Amino acid sequence: MTERKAIAIVGTGPTALMAADILSQSTHHVSIFEKRKGIGRKLLIAGSSGLNITNDLPVTEFAKHYSGLNRTPEASVAWRKTLETFSPQHWIQFIEDLGISTFKGTSGRYFVSEMKASGLLKKWRERLEQRNVAFHLNEECVKFTAHSKTKKIDLFFQDGQTYSMDAVCFALGGASYEPQENPLRWPKLFIENQIHFHDFLPSNSGFEVQWTPQFIKEAEGLPLKNVQLSSAKGTRRGEITITHYGLEGTPIYAVGEEGDVRIDLKPDLTIDQLISKCSAVRENLSPMRRAKKQLNLSDGALALLFHQSPRLILNDVKSLCECIKAFPLQLTRRRPLEEAISSSGGIALEEITDEFMLKKFPGVFMGGEMLNWDAPTGGFLIQGCVSQGYSLGKGTQAYLQGNRPDF
Ligand SMILES: Cc1cc2nc3c(=O)[nH]c(=O)nc-3n(C[C@H](O)[C@H](O)[C@H](O)COP(=O)(O)OP(=O)(O)OC[C@H]3O[C@@H](n4cnc5c(N)ncnc54)[C@H](O)[C@@H]3O)c2cc1C
Repeated sequence: MTERKAIAIVGTGPTALMAADILSQSTHHVSIFEKRKGIGRKLLIAGSSGLNITNDLPVTEFAKHYSGLNRTPEASVAWRKTLETFSPQHWIQFIEDLGISTFKGTSGRYFVSEMKASGLLKKWRERLEQRNVAFHLNEECVKFTAHSKTKKIDLFFQDGQTYSMDAVCFALGGASYEPQENPLRWPKLFIENQIHFHDFLPSNSGFEVQWTPQFIKEAEGLPLKNVQLSSAKGTRRGEITITHYGLEGTPIYAVGEEGDVRIDLKPDLTIDQLISKCSAVRENLSPMRRAKKQLNLSDGALALLFHQSPRLILNDVKSLCECIKAFPLQLTRRRPLEEAISSSGGIALEEITDEFMLKKFPGVFMGGEMLNWDAPTGGFLIQGCVSQGYSLGKGTQAYLQGNRPDF
């Protein structure tokens, strides 16, 4: 008979819950520790704007969206393997099996039908509890030590509790959206154990723009739908939202960077088509009125042209159309970590094995956003987390059996 071992999972994000799901199918005793009083805070936040769980790209294409593990050709294969082991289709099926329906939205993105994460988290927790997983909330892990002789790992908590474990899975998340007054403290656990850590930086975050007061009074909150942003980093089409400080939205997250950028406000029409449409008006109208009448420009785009462009271009149809095709803006500063969707940085990937175990601490596994990888929005973040959660759960199981994981 297999010996019943004690496993700790620290964190209750998608990585941790998936690792717990795998390990709860074994005979081992699984305990989950979470520093907050509720589970899955960031998933709940993600759900407030529509929980985008994954996306329909084939795995080979999907894998190309990750940085970090992709930096070397071997590492790119590593992401592909992780995603093949627990693919977008596996994840969608997993959610459906929990009784939560999903649907495919625009641009191949999958969402949970109720858009929020609360139902998914509730059902997931119920299933884990039915499998005797113990939840310890309000328990912040502040230190770990490993004993090479006994192979035990001791976990120390803020309230003075300690637990001795046979294996530990850390899934402590990244540094984005953490309240300023309660900063992330987990990096200390690893830095004091000489584990290499890269400082966190904001990723998938908005940028600041110096708007004129008249413009922002008129345009705050307006969307620029189906526009195309170009920067030195590349080009991305999608929706951008005008905010009081600057711009947010998928194209900004994907290719935004400090400095000069251009927005094509009518990417489906060529400059010649724009000019010819504007010139077709018989009445004696100003270029701006012609554009308004003929080009179906959104209120946000019209406000940009009216308030944020050089006055001169408004006097001439050709200059105005050139501006519509390549509206110049300067992104002055990235918004801070507290407002970012994700973060880059975290535990250095060189510190972990292919099974997501710390090389220096056998029995200590980790995954998810706490590792130094990053991905764009579009379901890549959550998918990366659950795929890693699956692999690290399997890796932990195999470690406890003295085997390599049976992927
Ligand atoms: C506004 C917003 C919208 C988003 N929308 C999407 C989206 O639609 N699609 C998508 O794919 N991704 C989205 N994301 C990103 C996604 O939520 C994260 O990538 C994902 O939750 C990371 O999962 P994780 O398991 O790595 O960690 P987290 O979900 O961050 O979980 C880590 C957990 O560990 C706990 N913890 C930390 N330190 C300790 C400690 N010392 N002791 C005990 N517990 C600790 C934390 O309290 C937390 O509950 C969004 C993020 C934000 C902020």
